[in-house]
Amino acid sequence: MSDRYGTFVQSGLGKQVAKNLGLPIPVTLERFEAGEKVVRGSVLFGAAPGDDARLSTAVAEVLQALHTEVFVANDDAHKDALTSVGIEVKNSGDNKDKYKVLVFDASNIAHAPDLKALYDFFHPVARQVEQSGRVIVIGRPPEECETIGSTLAQRALEGFVKSVGKEFKKGITAQLVYVSEGAESNLASTLSFLMSARSAYVSGQVVRVGAGNALQVDWSKPLAGKTALVTGASRGIGEAIARVLARDGAHVICLDIAPQQADLQRVAGEIGGSTLTLDITAADAGEKIAEAAAKRGGLDAIVHNAGVTRDKTLANMDEKQWDMVVDINLQSNAMINDYLFDHEVLNDNARIICVSSLSGIAGNLGQTNYATSKAGVIGLVSATAKKLKADNKGITINAVAPGFIETQMTAAIPFAIREAGRRMNSMSQGGLPVDVAETIAWFASPASGGVNGNTIRVCGQSLLGA
Ligand code: NAP
Repeated sequence: MSDRYGTFVQSGLGKQVAKNLGLPIPVTLERFEAGEKVVRGSVLFGAAPGDDARLSTAVAEVLQALHTEVFVANDDAHKDALTSVGIEVKNSGDNKDKYKVLVFDASNIAHAPDLKALYDFFHPVARQVEQSGRVIVIGRPPEECETIGSTLAQRALEGFVKSVGKEFKKGITAQLVYVSEGAESNLASTLSFLMSARSAYVSGQVVRVGAGNALQVDWSKPLAGKTALVTGASRGIGEAIARVLARDGAHVICLDIAPQQADLQRVAGEIGGSTLTLDITAADAGEKIAEAAAKRGGLDAIVHNAGVTRDKTLANMDEKQWDMVVDINLQSNAMINDYLFDHEVLNDNARIICVSSLSGIAGNLGQTNYATSKAGVIGLVSATAKKLKADNKGITINAVAPGFIETQMTAAIPFAIREAGRRMNSMSQGGLPVDVAETIAWFASPASGGVNGNTIRVCGQSLLGA
């Protein structure tokens, strides 16, 4: 659906009017384009002083593989981590141009006063970040820190990053990545995603990277030879997910209910996938999915995308509206997963991806049923992640929680509420279905084996539930 205000403020007159009235000025966000580099500009790297260079080295290896132009201060604590992997670093003191990415290893910060390293690194370059730029801070999970000092310091990073996300504007995103000790080599898929245009509408997020099998991939076709199933694939976000997973090389089994058959066939036909007409709440849904998967040698990814809303205030909601929403959005996901586990339908290193919602995090007027179901999805993901870790087959589960995404669902919202939802985020605009799909593709990558149990919002850093 078109964002007329967003288009108007791109014009000279529109920009002037918006500026004079103090209205938000959304920029056109950079998104994935075939043939474009992962990082469309230069990177400024920095690290807080300290002996542990493991994360700096992991970052250096990713930058080296991407062949990006890398700047670093001459006196940076971990400059050697870059040069030792063969990067020809440039001195940041000589650079007056803007950076596309600022990446900072904060893992050595272990006391409150040492947080000043954030100020020292970011303050001088706060106006030196390009449009659609990226700010990424890397640290250690506070819950795994051994001292009170390091726990408070690592936890403090979250406030810093979320504030930068709100301040920098111009489509610039800010993220915090916590990497467990020993999982440094699992950072590549996450860092590449967050530095790239694929994460256009993801901001203010905290990602946890832990132990797991991060497999080698061809980064241009990370899902080559894989089979993925997407529910609700005939339109909206599900259609975009199917298209992006197919673009990344997967054969996609597109699932939707019978009334959507025509659209389902259109989507599957256009991406060289296959179709499965099924109601995911049917008692034999798991069995039917298993049959379709067996024809292709099992499933490497399943995306539980299908979902419905039946909005009413609790006082006006009938029992059917409650039951239907919880059944489709939550119970079906749990039931299908159980069947897939019990019958070993998922291949080793498979990926399960659920679709929650901002409503499940913040709650929403008229959505007690929907918010209950979507909050339940987050619980499903964290409990299943623990089970999968213990199973040790390399299978992961994660969720996206979309905010305001331009779809038929949001086009049906009354104008004033729709306009508020669209603007109340750091990007001052709604996201696109492809933004959710790109985040799911990151989770789905065989290289994302260390990403398990995360719920990542695709909401442009919405003010709701922040
Ligand atoms: P959508 O356009 O309504 O598409 C959902 C698809 O799932 C539809 O084709 C729908 O068919 C199908 N479906 C519904 N019940 C089903 C069932 N029992 N079995 C199989 N398929 C079924 O929705 P969307 O906006 O793309 O949203 C996709 C997901 O993102 C949902 O889980 C939604 O809750 C979530 N989400 C969306 C937004 C947003 O801004 N759009 C924000 C947060 C979260 P019918 O049309 O016949 O129902």
